[in-house]
Amino acid sequence: MNIINYRHQHNIKIYNSLTGTKELFIPLNKKYIGIYVCGPTVYNYIHLGNCRTFILFDFIVRYFKHLNYKIRYVRNITDVGHLEENDEDKISIRSRIEGLEPMELVQKYTIFFHKILQLFNLLPPNIEPIATGHIIEQIDIITQLLNNNIAYEKNGSVYFNIEKYNQEFSDLYGPYGSLSNNDINQLINKNYHFLTEKKKFHDFALWKKAKYNHIMYWNSPWGKGFPGWHIECTTMSTKYLGTHFDIHGGGIDLKFPHHECEIAQAIGINKKMLSRYWIHTNILTYQGKKMSKSKGNVVDINNLLNNNKFHPTIIRYYLLTYHYRSILNFSEQGIKNSEKGYLKLMRTINIIDKILHTTTTTTTTTTTHTHHTIPIHSNNNTNTLNFDILQWIKDCYYAIDDDFNTPLLISHLFKIYKITHCDYIYNIKLSDIHLLKMYMHYFLFDIMGLEMMNKQNLDKTSKNIHKIIEFLIELRIEERIKKNWIVSDKIRYLLSLIGIKLQDKKIN
Ligand code: AMP
Ligand code: ZN
Repeated sequence: MNIINYRHQHNIKIYNSLTGTKELFIPLNKKYIGIYVCGPTVYNYIHLGNCRTFILFDFIVRYFKHLNYKIRYVRNITDVGHLEENDEDKISIRSRIEGLEPMELVQKYTIFFHKILQLFNLLPPNIEPIATGHIIEQIDIITQLLNNNIAYEKNGSVYFNIEKYNQEFSDLYGPYGSLSNNDINQLINKNYHFLTEKKKFHDFALWKKAKYNHIMYWNSPWGKGFPGWHIECTTMSTKYLGTHFDIHGGGIDLKFPHHECEIAQAIGINKKMLSRYWIHTNILTYQGKKMSKSKGNVVDINNLLNNNKFHPTIIRYYLLTYHYRSILNFSEQGIKNSEKGYLKLMRTINIIDKILHTTTTTTTTTTTHTHHTIPIHSNNNTNTLNFDILQWIKDCYYAIDDDFNTPLLISHLFKIYKITHCDYIYNIKLSDIHLLKMYMHYFLFDIMGLEMMNKQNLDKTSKNIHKIIEFLIELRIEERIKKNWIVSDKIRYLLSLIGIKLQDKKIN
């Protein structure tokens, strides 16, 4: 059976940040969807806020794939050009602090990023372009913007000319700032000192001249330098998805200025709106403030996962229990509550399995399909429940189709939890129970991307992990007594990776 076409007509509605309305989703090419999501700037460990955004897009991509669309999902890696307020490159600053080559730093945090997303069961994107791998293309686009007179060069740097852009394109595409509803004239802070080589406060860098001590630079028609952050996304999205594609996504914090700049650059060269739909995830906050690498206000993912405090699938589930457009304030209690909910859903699946198993066994001996033989524990009488499985399937789809409403989807899945815990289950046909099983699996594992765990699994793994840690600590003590520093240092290092810091006393 083709699960996705089961008596359901999909009318997917997406809240398009560009228009501020929920719109019917119509792909530009019937069967194909191109989607670009701004990836991480790899100058630090990714945090849970980043994960919230990437998990949402993983959910969307999984769903489209299951609807039989051919997807090209592009998610970049920013390894150059993301500037701090003082116009210094984040990667450069951090590599000095850590005493690493910029590319060593980038490698370190890209590996961590991949590792974490894998733990959260994210599918890899189809293409993961890296900014420093596209310098030639970026220089090419900057040259075009200069030729089109909406950029200017000054002292070896190139800036985008917003005033010129507005004069030429605001009639057709709205002035710069339309996506985020920002009137840039209102935003100008009179006391803010901006670089005198820029014509206007909001003109942004396409190319920056490298200072004498800047390590990462490339030759260009304007001298040695490096590209700005915004130009890389316009360059890589259009290179892999064309000049006008279906969906552009990222966290809401990127709306301004990053996505405004991406749009302005794309219109400046191609005279086309970059993407048809814009999806912005709302922020994950911590202690009431945006979780942010640069502010240091982050939840360390390793701490959450260490010692099996929480299984990654529980954290993924927790993040999906909130709609992506609402702010989510992180709390460990929230994850604990989610774990309870998640385990209820897993128990539901087990009960359905048991019902099917027992019924099949019964059927082989009696060759009847009487549902009264289903051994289901319950005392509650809920015959008032009126459950129509086909309507339930539709409701689940409607929830996803309505701007990826994951909390609503989850509330529908909980209806099955209720049903498997009451007498009503006796009234359901066996074929419908098969269908239930299939769709519960489909929504929970295929679309939400969760993994099947039960309480025993969670506890068992955690106990085993503790045993392994204890064993390693004891082994290390023995190795230290034998003065086998190589092994003991290696163990200490490996334990430090999962947040266990060992302090040694001197061995005599
Ligand atoms: P960055 O590495 O900071 O450029 O962020 C990578 C992605 O994570 C971008 O799409 C950001 O918008 C998103 N992001 C950053 N911080 C948060 C947050 N606190 N909550 C949700 N998404 C975030
Ligand atoms: Zn971007």
